[in-house]
Amino acid sequence: MFDYLIVGAGFAGSVLAERLATRSNKKVLVVDKRNHIAGNAYDHYNEDGILVHKYGPHIFHTNSKDVFEYLSNFTDWRPYEHRVLASVDGQMVPMPINLDTINKLYGLKLNSFEVEEFFESVAEKVPVIKTSEDVVVSKVGRELYEKFFRNYTRKQWGMDPSELDKSVTSRVPTRTNRDDRYFTDTYQAMPLHGYTRMFERLLDHPNIKVMLNTDYHDIMDFIPFKEMIFTGPVDEFFDFKYGKLPYRSLEFKHETLNTENYLAAPVVNYPNDNLYTRITEFKALTGQQHPKTAIVYEYPKAEGDPYYPVPRLENAELYNKYKKLADETPNVHFVGRLATYKYYNMDQVVAQALTLYKKLTEKSAEEAPRKPAISGSTELVEKLVARSPSKP
Ligand SMILES: Cc1cc2nc3c(=O)[nH]c(=O)nc-3n(C[C@H](O)[C@H](O)[C@H](O)COP(=O)(O)OP(=O)(O)OC[C@H]3O[C@@H](n4cnc5c(N)ncnc54)[C@H](O)[C@@H]3O)c2cc1C
Repeated sequence: MFDYLIVGAGFAGSVLAERLATRSNKKVLVVDKRNHIAGNAYDHYNEDGILVHKYGPHIFHTNSKDVFEYLSNFTDWRPYEHRVLASVDGQMVPMPINLDTINKLYGLKLNSFEVEEFFESVAEKVPVIKTSEDVVVSKVGRELYEKFFRNYTRKQWGMDPSELDKSVTSRVPTRTNRDDRYFTDTYQAMPLHGYTRMFERLLDHPNIKVMLNTDYHDIMDFIPFKEMIFTGPVDEFFDFKYGKLPYRSLEFKHETLNTENYLAAPVVNYPNDNLYTRITEFKALTGQQHPKTAIVYEYPKAEGDPYYPVPRLENAELYNKYKKLADETPNVHFVGRLATYKYYNMDQVVAQALTLYKKLTEKSAEEAPRKPAISGSTELVEKLVARSPSKP
């Protein structure tokens, strides 16, 4: 009998498994339909021995001391501040737009005060900011919007910024100084031995069993458990009762090159050229020394694995219908980016999982023991668990 069946071995599922097993002495079964743990943060050594992120570059950054300290129990860190260049008008310029971006692009020698005046002179008046286009043109004007944002957003989302919620471009700041870091969070670092190693340590406890290559639909009627933690897509859980929640997907094209270094920055964005949006060079993120280098191209697409919830009003309304069902489902807890249909960074998902753990412990302290929600054959569980590799 498991106390919890956890669907998904990403950040949400693995953090909850760790807390429940080690702090509350609960028996936990974690299932994932993929052949590895770590969800989208999964990294591995490719055939040339270079550490790569299978699902695109994952950079850890947070302002939360609690989240950073919690994860530090499972990994050492490599200090790392992320930097991005954008290829625009045949030049490589810092992204987010800063003082150097403007000076290099226009051949100017402005200082911070002058560039602020420059932005003010080109910014358009937008009475009510509603869309992603409004956000950008009201800050840096139409020309920079066209050069840096419009085509990038069209590639990334398959939609014009004027059709997308303001939240998409609000995330990207504009700076009047020379700070070229992509993030300004207090804690910026990469797990020293990679994300997957960190997840192995999170899940390494006698109370935790992991079953990979397993869709929860295939086992949930046979495995006895009391409660479920669900980190998969919420619409799938309810058999798409109200229709599919729209996602944008990506195709990752990984390559190893016979050269020690390739890009001028860890990531180069291509707003206007090529079908891909950006290229990442992994050794720049991981600090690995190797005579070859590994890169990944990202090609946005409409179909495929669900990566980015599409931020439009009608989608939020559709999600709210599923959320109502989720709230009314007893003994199932929905957590993580797919179960709550929201783009979250890794640290936000860890925080969400830690908050749910606190709620669960408060709840179990209040409640008397009760009957299992679903029951099945324990013999089968032992067999299924024994068959499933616990490590990728
Ligand atoms: C391209 C890309 C780049 C990103 N870069 C960053 C970054 O630089 N920094 C950052 O902080 N965040 C980044 N993120 C976000 C980060 O990936 C998420 O915050 C994090 O992975 C969310 O964890 P999760 O556990 O909610 O979901 P996931 O990691 O997706 O885990 C959910 C798991 O559930 C499993 N699952 C789904 N359905 C079923 C089922 N039916 N049965 C069994 N298992 C199932 C899935 O296989 C998956 O492994 C990026 C995301 C993407 C897409």
